[in-house]
Amino acid sequence: MDASAIIRKTAADLRLAPNLADYAAERQCFSWEAARAELALDREGRVNIAGQAVERQASGDLRKKTAFRFVSRGAASRDVSFEGLSRLTSRFANVLKNLGVGRGERVFVLSGRIPELYVAVLGSLKHGAVVSPLFSAFGPEPIATRVNLGEGRVLVTTDLLYERKVAKWREKMPTLEHVLLVTGEGGCTDIPGTLDLATLMADAGEVCEVAPTGAEDMALLHFTSGTTGTPKGAIHVHGAVVTHWATGRYALDLHPEDIFWCTADPGWVTGTSYGIVAPLLHGVTSIVDREEFDAERWYSILQDQAVTVWYTAPTAIRMLMKAGAEIPRKYRFPQLRFIASVGEPLNPEAVRWGKEVLGLPIHDNWWQTETGGIMIANTPAFDIKPGSMGRPLPGIDAAIVKRQEDGSVAVIDAPDVEGELALKRGWPSMFRGYLNNEERYRKCFSGDWYLTGDLAKRDADGYFWFVGRADDVIKSAGHLIGPFEVESALMEHPAVAEAGVIGKPDPVVGEVVKAFVSLKAGFEDSEALRMELLGHARKRLGAAVAPKEIAVVASLPRTRSGKIMRRLLKARELGLPEGDLSTLESGG
Ligand code: ATP
Ligand code: MG
Repeated sequence: MDASAIIRKTAADLRLAPNLADYAAERQCFSWEAARAELALDREGRVNIAGQAVERQASGDLRKKTAFRFVSRGAASRDVSFEGLSRLTSRFANVLKNLGVGRGERVFVLSGRIPELYVAVLGSLKHGAVVSPLFSAFGPEPIATRVNLGEGRVLVTTDLLYERKVAKWREKMPTLEHVLLVTGEGGCTDIPGTLDLATLMADAGEVCEVAPTGAEDMALLHFTSGTTGTPKGAIHVHGAVVTHWATGRYALDLHPEDIFWCTADPGWVTGTSYGIVAPLLHGVTSIVDREEFDAERWYSILQDQAVTVWYTAPTAIRMLMKAGAEIPRKYRFPQLRFIASVGEPLNPEAVRWGKEVLGLPIHDNWWQTETGGIMIANTPAFDIKPGSMGRPLPGIDAAIVKRQEDGSVAVIDAPDVEGELALKRGWPSMFRGYLNNEERYRKCFSGDWYLTGDLAKRDADGYFWFVGRADDVIKSAGHLIGPFEVESALMEHPAVAEAGVIGKPDPVVGEVVKAFVSLKAGFEDSEALRMELLGHARKRLGAAVAPKEIAVVASLPRTRSGKIMRRLLKARELGLPEGDLSTLESGG
């Protein structure tokens, strides 16, 4: 059997034979070479993400199919076909060409989830420029810091965002030469120092060659979430597209007939790898919702857009849980067949909730900005173990390791032992550096292993369980306590909507566990409730691990990608400097 036949057989088996033994066999016959062959990449290693994601479909059977459906409140939805996307992205690539922007130069994109964002990202890639999408909610300083770090030459944004966040800071961004504006949002035109994107697009030709980029050429610059400190700029290359394709198939089970909704914003790596690239590679129609979270609206999108595969995050699921069980009763989701989640540990309570309310369990998966794509997942091919991240995907070697004093690492073979989660280097979407921080990048590797900074354990069935970030683990009276375990136990109590746990220095035991919780609708803070929660945790976890203190808060501080910022809870608790808050969601 040739390589692509093996892959096809593998994929077919994955759908038909959902059990662990087959999955193990499939893992064995998978190779990145075969995946490259499936995408028909040339032998010289030339590949372009936009060429694969847009042009391959636009010149094939699916060209008339909707690639993106943009929906927003109170406006008709707008469909863009693969063919249409090809034309728009070619125009954008020509805009860059006409401005004299060269291969490898940096284009930053700052906007809400409007069609122009998607066109700019894919058009930049097509042109061979490097693209970095930013959260539109960033303030002026985080924008300027990132543009300067990445030496941005072009910024694509809207008139409103420009006036509010960029105009006054413009001179602090010396490399920024061209600002292309989507006008109409703020009603302003003719803003000095900017160009009107629509005019440039209209004047540009709609035919262009895809840049013949190499697999190792830089394609995307993505900043980490800033959960544990100052965000780092992770460099990704065009060759990453092979991971996007394979994970879209194995972890998200994408097929051309699917309607896919990835709720992540492209300012976060999930919103690019899975909000843009992977669904296009599989010829899938993606729903893009422009609005911010709203429980009622989200259920209505799942129903009205007939979403079949949904990729979201624990924070969103917890917010739906918090909004109560009444709202979803008004909706039906018969088409929905697969739900996955990423970004933070998915509490077992959330997996159960999915089954009850949406009729499907939620498949947790794990990855990082640095890994560029999903690495470990509960896939459709085997049973979920609620609370686990799943198993390494085909092509991924994951292990639990211990760092040695001499800088090497020892692989821990025994099951159920905690250690650092490590990945064997060599998967196509591995980051190729932290921008301007070679030292930090080097420190992430030991021999063949990339060290993730997350602590985990592997069970005897090969499932990986998240324990906590190395920075967040609490040391109390000789015990190492992962915040996730404590938070999940608290969330089992009917009053708790979300929980964040920190270690508080203690002269006797080193650190004591302190929990912060927010409550579900209908519950109120009281001494009695707090006592009850502490008692509940003690019963579930034992006195050594359970929190000694608990505080009820309206909401927990979160990053824009929805992660609980435990370092901020801790800094505030201890009266220490709050550190880098560039990614903090307002209201936290
Ligand atoms: P920073 O590196 O700036 O502190 P960050 O690590 O939160 O931010 P991301 O790359 O967006 O930035 O997030 C990756 C991290 O998110 C992982 O290292 C892990 O700690 C956490 N994570 C992602 N998915 C899961 C999951 N399924 N279960 C548990 N943790 C997860
Ligand atoms: Mg990180």
